[in-house]
Amino acid sequence: MKTLGEILSISVHFLKEKKCVRFRRDAEDLIAHVLKLKRLDLYAQFDRPVQEAELKILRALLKRAVKGEPVEYMIGEVAFYHCQLSVGPDVLIPRPETEILVDQACRMLCLADLQEKTAWDLCSGSGCIGIAVKKACPHLRVSLSDISGKALEIAAINAKRNDVQVELLQGDLLAPFAGRKTDIIFCNPPYIPSQEIFTLDPSVKDYEPREALDGGDDGLFFYRQLEKELPSYLNAKAKIFFEIGTGQGDLVLNLFHGRSWKNKRVEKDWAGHDRFFFLEFE
Ligand code: GLN
Repeated sequence: MKTLGEILSISVHFLKEKKCVRFRRDAEDLIAHVLKLKRLDLYAQFDRPVQEAELKILRALLKRAVKGEPVEYMIGEVAFYHCQLSVGPDVLIPRPETEILVDQACRMLCLADLQEKTAWDLCSGSGCIGIAVKKACPHLRVSLSDISGKALEIAAINAKRNDVQVELLQGDLLAPFAGRKTDIIFCNPPYIPSQEIFTLDPSVKDYEPREALDGGDDGLFFYRQLEKELPSYLNAKAKIFFEIGTGQGDLVLNLFHGRSWKNKRVEKDWAGHDRFFFLEFE
């Protein structure tokens, strides 16, 4: 019988040979999942024998990973900010970059007086942004909206898992909020230009929901719509936190050119790419 240490080294080697990008992390996550251990505990239990039944499950998962299936969908969950979230093929897998958006927003918001303030997370997908913000800033009243009913079902599970109360609304962008106004907007809309989707890694283009990726011809479809529609949904001094695509910084700055938009700034992610666009309403 092989030990955990041996299985880890064989699995890492296998995924590396098959050109999986995150070969070590994926192997660790899958083995931890099959053995019901925390990833870091793998390294404390190198001598533990791995049963044939466990190996059989692991082999099948490794083969799926080689085909490009995201490990997060196989495992069914992901850690995001201070939350543990369920994910499946109906929602975009929350990205570490989006944690920067949540972190920056929470630093700014928790300093402000949030009693009675409202925040909407548009295109909420798994609910990662709205749920993480609500957990960090419990006084905020948070609503999530998504066009996909299946995504909202996952967001509902995630709100429960993380013990937060948020409002969940189905509909396109601002449609579910007719007649209402808010103080804070979060939105990580689909922002990949349609023609670029086929250039993405297979784990993204073949597995993640296309409607969560496709931002129209130039990738700016949703920002354009929001620039037009947001003003009638915003209270004075509303704060807006967008995630944007690489290279879209100047484009969104120009798009939100009106005099009502204040304090506009494009922020970069850890890789140094334009990734966020923060602004305020008059
Ligand atoms: N808000 C979710 C996230 O950031 C979903 C985004 C999307 O589907 N475009 O992961």
